[in-house]
This record gives sequence, C-alpha cells and structure tokens, in this order.
Amino acid sequence: MTTNKNNLTTSWGAPVGDNQNSMTAGSRGPTLIQDVHLLEKLAHFNRERVPERVVHAKGAGAHGYFEVTNDVSKYTKAEFLSEVGKRTPLFVRFSTVAGENGSADSVRDPRGFAVKFYTEEGNYDLVGNNTPVFFIRDAIKFPDFIHTQKRHPVTHLKNPDAVWDFWSLSPESLHQVTILMSDRGIPATYRHMHGFGSHTFKWVNAEGEGVWIKYHFKTEQGIKNLTEEVGTKIAGENPDYHTQDLYEAIEKGDFPAWKVYVQIMPLEDADTYRFDPFDVTKVWSQKDYPLIEVGRMVLNRNPENYFAEVEQATFSPGTLVPGIEPSPDKMLQGRLFAYADAHRYRVGANHNSLPINRPKAEVHNYQRDGQMRFDSNGGGSVYYEPNSLGGPQESPENKTTAYPVSGSADSTAYDHNDHYTQAGDLYRLLSEEERTRLVSNIVGSMKQVTKDEIKLRQIQHFYKADPEYGTRVAEGLGLSVPQEV
Ligand code: NDP
Repeated sequence: MTTNKNNLTTSWGAPVGDNQNSMTAGSRGPTLIQDVHLLEKLAHFNRERVPERVVHAKGAGAHGYFEVTNDVSKYTKAEFLSEVGKRTPLFVRFSTVAGENGSADSVRDPRGFAVKFYTEEGNYDLVGNNTPVFFIRDAIKFPDFIHTQKRHPVTHLKNPDAVWDFWSLSPESLHQVTILMSDRGIPATYRHMHGFGSHTFKWVNAEGEGVWIKYHFKTEQGIKNLTEEVGTKIAGENPDYHTQDLYEAIEKGDFPAWKVYVQIMPLEDADTYRFDPFDVTKVWSQKDYPLIEVGRMVLNRNPENYFAEVEQATFSPGTLVPGIEPSPDKMLQGRLFAYADAHRYRVGANHNSLPINRPKAEVHNYQRDGQMRFDSNGGGSVYYEPNSLGGPQESPENKTTAYPVSGSADSTAYDHNDHYTQAGDLYRLLSEEERTRLVSNIVGSMKQVTKDEIKLRQIQHFYKADPEYGTRVAEGLGLSVPQEV
C-alpha cells in the first residue's frame, strides 16, 4: 500500500517520497531534471499570484446576509427585495483604492465597499465606495486620474504635483476632494464607515414602472475616523490594521451591520432637478429625496481562504438582476465594461464559475470552453441558439426597460458646471474643529506640491465653494487667494 489519506502528494495526486531533499547526481549534485516534483513545486510557486487589481488592490472580505426590513416591492420586482424578513447571503470586499496589495490600510483614500448578493435570480453586485460621490464623472478620464494617484514613471514615488495638477484642472473633483480631506478620509476601521452605491440606478417594479434610486449603507457601529497623525502612526506600526480589525471582530462574534436605505426619485424629476441627477460628483439632497429604509446587512463569517474568496472575488456594476438597471451616468456606463473586463484579464474568462463568484441560481447558457473551464462545461447539452432541441430560452418579461434618448452622437461635456455649491454645503455643515482639520489635511498635502501655479488654481476652487474655505487653505500655504476669483 503506497497511499494513505495523510500522504503528501503531488498536484496530480501521487505520493511524494521526499519533500526535503531534491534529487541529485551524487550527494553534491548537480540537480536532476527528472525530479519532477521539484520542478512542479518551483513552477507552481512562480505562478502563485494573479495580477493585482490596478485599483482596490488591498482589501479584506467577509460573508454575511442581507435582510429586508421594509416593503419596497412597489418600486422593484427584484425577488431578493420582495418581502420583509427575506434573507439573502452575500459577500463583501472592503478596500483602499490607490495602494498596492501590501500597502497600509490606515491611509487617506476612499474605501471600496463592494457587495455581492447571491440572489435566487442570479448574483447582484453593488460595487460602491464609502463616499456618495466620485472625483470625475466621465469614465474617459479614469485612467488619467488613477495615473496621478499611482507612482511617477521615473522616481517610482507618489507625486503630489500630479495629484493636485489633475484635481485643480478637473474642478468636478472638488466635492470628493473635500470629503477625502475631511475626517472621513481615514475611517477608523472598515466597520466604522458608511457605504454608498454612489451612482444612480433604476429600480423597476412588476408593472414595468421605474424610479431612479441611490443606495446608502449606514454603519450601525457609528462613524469613527483616524486623524492624519494617528493614521500615519498606525500605518507604520500595523499596515494591516483594518484587515485585522474586521477579521478579529467577526471571529469573536462582534458582527458588524449596516442599515440599508435608498433615495427614490420619480423618473420625470430627472429632467427638471436642479442639476443632472446622473452626475456622480453630486449627491441628491436628502431634503428633496429622504432616505427610505430597505434592510440590514450583517457580516458574520470570515473567509476560510483569503486567496480563494477575497482575491478571486470579482465584482462588477453590470452584474444585475431583474428589477435593477443602470442609469445613463457616464461613469457607471464605463464601469459596466471595465470591471468585468478587468476580471477576465485578472482571473480569467470563467471567473464567474469560481466558488466565490458562482451564483446560487443555476446557470444555463450557450457559453462554452475558455481557460480554466473547471465545471462540466455544459456536458452534452445544446450549445447554440436558436435551436429546436429544447435549450434554455430568453424570458421577454426580464428585458431591460426601454429608456428614451435623443440628440446627436457626439463627445459631449456635461451641461452644468456648478462644482462648488455641494462642496461648500459640506464645508458649511462641518464644525469649527472639523474645518480646522480639513484645512490642515489639505495644507499638509498641498505643501508637497512644487509649483505655486497648481496651488493657486486649486485655492480658487476652494474659495468658490466657500470664501472662508479658500482663504484658510491659502493662509495655511502662505499664499493669497488669486485676484481673479
Ligand atoms: P442633509 O442635511 O440632508 O444631509 C447631510 C448628509 O451629510 C447626511 O447624509 C449626513 O449623514 C452627512 N454628514 C454629516 N456630517 C458629515 C461629515 N462630517 N462629513 C460627511 N458627511 C456628513 O443635507 P444634504 O442632503 O443637502 O447634503 C449636504 C451635504 O452633505 C452635501 O453637499 C454632501 O457633501 C453631504 N452629504 C450628503 C449626502 C446625501 O446623500 N445627500 C450623503 C453624504 C454626505 P451621516 O451623519 O449619517 O453621515
């Protein structure tokens, strides 16, 4: 008998005779190529990493559930939202954005807040952030924006000149920059922050009637943040602080939870609201569209394997279920392509078949083959459509609803450019202490910019949001607010 269940084996299942000494010609070597166990071991090791995500590389994940607490079935036919008390399993991945896979958690950066609901109608991914808005509002600017957040091509250092050059020339970023530089720019943990769908989505009910919606996940742990000084200190002492906090909280049964709300806007309001409601650099005032409770998200189980579940998890804003549809938000439209494309590159064409991504709903389609096709690949079932062989059929009642459009096919800018009112509203709702820390965080970052021209351009934006805001930043930098404001 050469095998027993505790035998160390090769990846093809054969027992390994020696895992400590490579096979050599004589006791001093050289090493023999016939030691295929050695070759396989080294070769597999070389291939242990999949490409890290270009953004959101550093993250932590957890399993949990979503429970409906309020009847929203008149707004959406999504089955998982159909009745109070209904629970749907889910997986969440939190992340920083700009840093590499090994970078520190407690840095000033937005946080990814990606939720995969395993519904009976297929997976639904809500790929949000901990902020309700974003820096830019057209996906065509995204690669350039991220370049400014990453490393300089020569020095391989972060580059404050690029960061503030881009922001000062992209004033639509001002609202998000203000949030980022405020106390909420460094959450104390992943548990102590809100989540937002950020984009506008459409909910559609069983009668085919739609509404525009925005998602809010409000932390039940309360908002807690780290100051710049404490965040920096922790980043040095324990770069994995947030990852560890989430894991340990769940491990000891202290399950984090979020109350989930939506803002609901009648479709026709989109034509008359005071700005474009699909512009992701804006919030909808809660005075106009108050929060409506939907349910509660609880995280109660840690991954059993980080790589299998967190690294291989693939979220895409296009992973939708009947009753939830995209809006024309130009940033969302770009993400509908870019996320799934990133996963095809990073994890492979069959990434949706991996256990962490596989829907709980059955999958029936005519896709076949591809790298790493590790399920039965449809076996001998019909593999084309149309067919007269009883293959899976489309269900017209699940078509995306029609959306009227008009105008010319053109590269068109947004027709409104008030980047200042909402950034100013945020500044004005902050307490004096919060304003002081906001200005101090901005000054600390902008001090590293080498060109006054960039600083002055950005000061003008702060000034337009609120004269006090711009004046205080200018003073902190030892500059005057430029005359042309
Ligand atoms: P509201 O008074 O109706 O809402 C203010 C919102 O700001 C609440 O969601 C509140 O939620 C949040 N908030 C409170 N303190 C802070 C803070 N220090 N940093 C960031 N957010 C905070 O006013 P409006 O809806 O008219 O919005 C006013 C401003 O509030 C906006 O310009 C925007 O910058 C900010 N904001 C608005 C949101 C929205 O959905 N309308 C969402 C988040 C921020 P909470 O205290 O629970 O976080």
